[in-house]
Amino acid sequence: FYKDHPRYSKLLVVAAVSGGSLLAYSSSNSSHHETGDSESKKKRIVVLGTGWGATSYLKNLDLASYDVQVVAPRNYFAFTPLLPSVTCGTVEARSIVEPIRNIIKKSATFWEAECFKIDAKDKKVHCRPVQKSESKDKEEIIMDYDYLIVAVGARVNTFNTPGVEENCHFLKEVEDAQRIRRSVIDCFEKASLPNISEEEKKKHLHFVVVGGGPTGVEFAAELHDFVKEDISKLYPKVKDFVKITLLEAGDHILTMFDKRITAFAEEKFKRDGIDLKTGSMVVEVTNNGIRTKERSSGVVSSVPYGMAVWSTGIGTRPLISEFMQQIGQTTRRVLATDEWLRVQGNDCIYALGDCASINQRRIMEDIAVIFSKADKDNSGKLTVKQFQDVITDICERYPQVKLYLKNKKLKGISDLLKDSEGKDNSTELDIEKFKSALSQVDSEMKMLPATGQVAAQEGVYLANCFNQMAEREKNPVGPPRIRGEGRHRFHPFRYKHLGQFAPLGGEQTAAQLPGDWVSIGHSSQWLWYSVYASKQVSWRTRTMVVFDWMRRFIFGRDSSRI
Ligand code: FAD
Repeated sequence: FYKDHPRYSKLLVVAAVSGGSLLAYSSSNSSHHETGDSESKKKRIVVLGTGWGATSYLKNLDLASYDVQVVAPRNYFAFTPLLPSVTCGTVEARSIVEPIRNIIKKSATFWEAECFKIDAKDKKVHCRPVQKSESKDKEEIIMDYDYLIVAVGARVNTFNTPGVEENCHFLKEVEDAQRIRRSVIDCFEKASLPNISEEEKKKHLHFVVVGGGPTGVEFAAELHDFVKEDISKLYPKVKDFVKITLLEAGDHILTMFDKRITAFAEEKFKRDGIDLKTGSMVVEVTNNGIRTKERSSGVVSSVPYGMAVWSTGIGTRPLISEFMQQIGQTTRRVLATDEWLRVQGNDCIYALGDCASINQRRIMEDIAVIFSKADKDNSGKLTVKQFQDVITDICERYPQVKLYLKNKKLKGISDLLKDSEGKDNSTELDIEKFKSALSQVDSEMKMLPATGQVAAQEGVYLANCFNQMAEREKNPVGPPRIRGEGRHRFHPFRYKHLGQFAPLGGEQTAAQLPGDWVSIGHSSQWLWYSVYASKQVSWRTRTMVVFDWMRRFIFGRDSSRI
């Protein structure tokens, strides 16, 4: 099977054979090397993942210029913003997924496997096939790469809260959404059985959502609509026992949105009868109840529940933690990259999306170097003119610094800027003051949010860099290097925030668009429909999603438990 594939010149398949020893097969297609056809000269790119980052990279990469291998445990791209809609049947699961093979066509190869080790030293990845055959249950695939693109995303973060893994649903993958859909119906069917006490009905129909971020809020709103518009007609005898509770440890929900959106959402949930409990931290989940601790009073109480959905943020995948240990990035939550998305210290490995983040500390170190270089005589002083030139240089290199300065952040530099105002060009400024403020500055610069929007933009950026790699080696267009000679090959990555939505149910959505433009209500819901239809990865999914929305408008949601 492996040999048949023309691209597998370097692929090694290591299989466990009887007696437990490992045997390595090389599927090298020697004719490739002998003939030296263009295929064998192509650099090999291994892409880990089929999510937002990887798919946008693959869609924009000139696949014909490289030997591209894609590895992921799922053979499709999933449009995650519509996962909450799948939980209640507003859209069907298959409408939001696109097979990765449709995206890469014949120009790249896909392996349904999970990478469990990155060997940066030998430039290899070790993978395990997802489908295990009885005879080869210890099969391992080892792949060489010239470039590795790590886009494995993140996993759910339970904060090690006892009982969460065993008793709660997550909402991260398509399978999670399908499980939730079945579980919601199960709860209604259980509550409708004869000989069920009122207490039990209440328990079965108590839906608890943990986490007041966009996913938790959207799911609670979706569930409320499902119950109000569809379920209550089908289960009239138990509808009055339904209760939806949203637990949030902080003081408010949707804190990443404008305050007006937070206030509107909290008010709307109150009107809709969704029990919003802020300042309430879940400390344990058991089969019988969810134990919460009130942050203000410290009082611990337990509530019975029928179904709980845990949505409190993301954590690091074991593959990434292990790799970070290997390369000495032990103090971080995600892989640190430079502004060109290269994993620091590993020029051939790039990381994007939820598993990575541009290292802000390095940017601060660069800024310190820029200041030191400008201070040629090491006096700890710069003239106003020199200082302004330095600031211009920094802002060109790091657009985020420009934005922070505009918003009067980055205290050290802002203070110096203030000192320089209205002063003569030759006046000297004390830059030591700035250097001592550097550590504060570091903590003021925030990581990019873990969103599909960021991952997708990073994918497009990286693909464009790879498409121009050969040309830019000769003609670099990036800024001059701070350490070393010459220029960088490419411009650094720049994120452009296009806005965010928070669907709140009842055909109302909150939209926060660039320039802090906020719109809440039915008109934003139509904007949401059009944006999410347009953002679909293919015409097939676009059509299916739009048809699902129409089906829901006409016939309501389907409550069969299949
Ligand atoms: P993912 O999209 O998670 O993809 C990771 C890929 O890596 C998957 O294909 C996975 O199978 C694969 N993988 C995992 N482990 C391995 C391994 N060991 N080896 C190989 N492959 C592996 N963002 C927005 O911008 N807007 C929204 O409205 C929005 N709504 C969301 C709603 C929900 C319910 C959720 C869960 C997320 C939402 N997000 C939204 C966030 C967005 O989905 C993530 O930020 C985005 O998926 C991150 O992209 P990624 O490529 O880093 O990872």
